[in-house]
Amino acid sequence: MSAANKLLLVVMCCRLIVTVVGPTVLDFNDGNNNDFQLSTNPSDLARASSDFGMLRGGVAPVEPAAVFHPTSDRDIAQLIRAAYQQGFPAVSARGHGHSINGQANTAGGVVIEMSRLAEGHADGVRREGPPRPRIAEEMRYVDAWGGELWIDVLRACLEHGLAPRSWTDYLYLSVGGTLSNAGISGQAFNHGPQISNVHELDVVTGKGEMVKCSEEENQELFHAVLGGLGQFGIITRARIAVEPAPQRVRWIRVLYSNFSTFTRDQEHLISLHGDGRNKFDYVEGFVIVDEGLINNWRSSFFSPRNPVKISSLGTDGGVLYCLEVTKNYRESTADTVDQVKKNEIEALMKELDFIPASVFTTDLPYVDFLDRVHKVELKLRAKNLWEVPHPWLNLFVPKSRIDDFDKGVFKGILGNNRTSGPILIYPMNKSKWDDRSSAVTPEGDEEVFYLVALLRSAVEDSSGKTLEYLSNQNREILRFCDESGIKMKQYLPHYTTEREWAAHFGEEKWDRFNQRKTSFDPRRILATGQRIFKPVP
Ligand code: FAD
Repeated sequence: MSAANKLLLVVMCCRLIVTVVGPTVLDFNDGNNNDFQLSTNPSDLARASSDFGMLRGGVAPVEPAAVFHPTSDRDIAQLIRAAYQQGFPAVSARGHGHSINGQANTAGGVVIEMSRLAEGHADGVRREGPPRPRIAEEMRYVDAWGGELWIDVLRACLEHGLAPRSWTDYLYLSVGGTLSNAGISGQAFNHGPQISNVHELDVVTGKGEMVKCSEEENQELFHAVLGGLGQFGIITRARIAVEPAPQRVRWIRVLYSNFSTFTRDQEHLISLHGDGRNKFDYVEGFVIVDEGLINNWRSSFFSPRNPVKISSLGTDGGVLYCLEVTKNYRESTADTVDQVKKNEIEALMKELDFIPASVFTTDLPYVDFLDRVHKVELKLRAKNLWEVPHPWLNLFVPKSRIDDFDKGVFKGILGNNRTSGPILIYPMNKSKWDDRSSAVTPEGDEEVFYLVALLRSAVEDSSGKTLEYLSNQNREILRFCDESGIKMKQYLPHYTTEREWAAHFGEEKWDRFNQRKTSFDPRRILATGQRIFKPVP
């Protein structure tokens, strides 16, 4: 059955009044004199049914029945109200489709395309799109549309000399998409994840209600939605904390051959969080398992003119670790980093125990630093290496077991293999996460946990790192954690059974998650692509 017919059937079942105005646009009325246009344009459907993961391995993609291009939160509320009241199948917001496992899709339902494609879409009629970012300089916040890309939020803020303070490594992700997970990068140790930097949200719940929520107002919905995997409502506006924007960044990388020294230094640096302390503004790190030149797609920061051979550095089990830190400053050229900042950087570096000959330093504009991964994207795109399968695995590992993880995974399962992509590892402070949110961190009292991100691409080449090989290796890593009693949590989780989801959330949080689902999306129509709940008929 074609997508258009599927939708017609659905719509007829729902007793909606439908008028087909063309092969790719369906006009209908929800019975309350509200008109909608749903697109069944093949290019819209194809876009909605694919994502960054590209993990279907030749299997036909699961298609939604139609795509909806809203221009306002009212549009979204009307659609969801119709779905809720009249039994529409399922509705998923799609931010920028940078999920890995189809989380933003919904088989046979309607995908709400949150991005700005809405402006002048399908029927060729130019309409005003969703609201642009609005900055309140005095109050230090920006109001951003849920489908806004972070790069556009940044650009708008910079016009006022401001910038959000907590980031992801890559900025071509939507506000609603990252806030539905957590949004983490090297600033999280100090400012917390992006979900800890939101003052207020406008949300359309699974009943089609438009609700403003914050710490003070509709608190339960506010905390439910943050890290809520799209289960409780669609974020149409987020009020995000901003700070005066730095102008430039000193970016430093140093190498370690000893894992314990590397993690001890990382943990020291993140213990310096909070106001009024000399600290780096960003602390991350990555693992280098590859033999040969140090390089990875995340950035070509290790200059080709200055290559480093792992073999020349005397590694521990063939593995090197790179600590990556930055200090922000406001002067306009690298030459004018003032003496105070220089002294601060020097003092911090003196406290670290890296391989002395392995310091790599560069200075660049703040925006270029934040947008660093996009530059690599452009290079990979030029070589047809961006749109390839990405069997990524992101784990939060408790600090007390990170040594075991190193031995079992970096030096064990991955040891001496080419890794096919960067492996990030950096610690965060749990106290910067709000446990009332839906986001999941490792259970227990430990303050520090690590992100380990295996960001690998399945590119068919002579190394044989096919999708199946990397997927099997991911399963082996998960099995190793399980058998070794490493109580990690998946970040950007992907599970398919209720038992797995319940284990992921832990008993208490799972109960709360279910209660919140019953309150805010009782028919379970939202974000079915996460495969947590099935719609109630
Ligand atoms: P989508 O994939 O479109 O959607 C993700 C989920 O959120 C879906 O369930 C969807 O229904 C829901 N959703 C989307 N919009 C809304 C909304 N407005 N309201 C409610 N629910 C909504 N993550 C990090 O934390 N740190 C990183 O450094 C980082 N780097 C990345 C780099 C790359 C190259 C990629 C591909 C991903 C990276 N991620 C990172 C992961 C990323 O944050 C998540 O995959 C995120 O969901 C992607 O945002 P998106 O807009 O593409 O969301």
